[in-house]
Amino acid sequence: MRSLIDILDLSTVELDQLLSTACDIMEHPDQYAEKCKGKKLATLFFEPSTRTRLSFEAAMLELGGSVIGFSDADCSSASKGESIADTAKVISCYADIIAMRHPQEGAPFAASLSASIPVINAGDGGHCHPTQTLADLLTIYREKGKLDHLTIGFCGDLKYGRTVHSLIAALSRYRGIRVVLISPEELRLPGYVKHEYMSNMSCVETTSLDDAIGELDILYMTRIQRERFDDIEEYERLKDSYILTADKLARAPQTMCVLHPLPRVNEISVQVDEDSRACYFKQVLNGKYMRMALILKLLSEADGKKEPVATDLEGFVCENPRCITATEQEARQLFRCVNQEKQIYRCVYCEAQIKR
Ligand code: ASP
Repeated sequence: MRSLIDILDLSTVELDQLLSTACDIMEHPDQYAEKCKGKKLATLFFEPSTRTRLSFEAAMLELGGSVIGFSDADCSSASKGESIADTAKVISCYADIIAMRHPQEGAPFAASLSASIPVINAGDGGHCHPTQTLADLLTIYREKGKLDHLTIGFCGDLKYGRTVHSLIAALSRYRGIRVVLISPEELRLPGYVKHEYMSNMSCVETTSLDDAIGELDILYMTRIQRERFDDIEEYERLKDSYILTADKLARAPQTMCVLHPLPRVNEISVQVDEDSRACYFKQVLNGKYMRMALILKLLSEADGKKEPVATDLEGFVCENPRCITATEQEARQLFRCVNQEKQIYRCVYCEAQIKR
């Protein structure tokens, strides 16, 4: 069964196909209006969402399908202690495809191991958010006409910003990418993202948006992720680190695009919305079309067999307290080798490195 847990589950060819299907849907929506007739999408949202959940729902409805689900973990049997594995088995009896958001890293992957229908990761903790990346890629492609040879600045909370992690992973598939990481020291990009996805990119890190803005093709702003901080005082200290104002934007190239996965708090001032470089609301619409393309693809491939995913390492456990394996008893401890020579293993659910 084909699921989408990590953006790299899709090959470059598949990404290209999704982009072209999404463009075709935009041009000929009528031709797609009944493609999912009789099919049901279950949206299982254990964490707040506006865009992702509603765009999945709109996507399925515009394909002629229907939607069931919940938008609050308290309304589900998770609040009675049901495991992710059981939830996934149960929902497989009612729906044809699942979109799941969960605060714990690896939860959608855990669901995909038990579900008999495709599972789409709609955001798992601070880990990744592959369908936001699909929206980002379509936006970059439509605005710039290409996905390679670009200088992209990521600004804000690069530590917990899961959309950043997934977009950087996707960009590793393209040539000539230069990344400028703009964040406070405390919110720098996690090491695993740098080491595993950025070897073919050139990268600089800075704390200054002003210094970087003049050289960017894309500025990807992010919200400081309050809900992921263990220390709320640290959040208070960092929350206003970057605010993109019209004045700041005046120093950027006229052709630069501003992206943001939304919701914004105050990191982009509303005056910027009037600037033709502001692309974040287009990004929202693009997300719906990419989700339509993705639903079509996964449903058309839904008869495939489940691939073996990883190995267990006797006696080793994932030590990340935010990982789904910390609470889900049924979740087997599974690891993948990311470097044979150095024998580096990572948890398949959350990518934490295992200390051996
Ligand atoms: N909507 C995005 C996410 O779910 C970005 C954010 O919440 O700041 O990760």
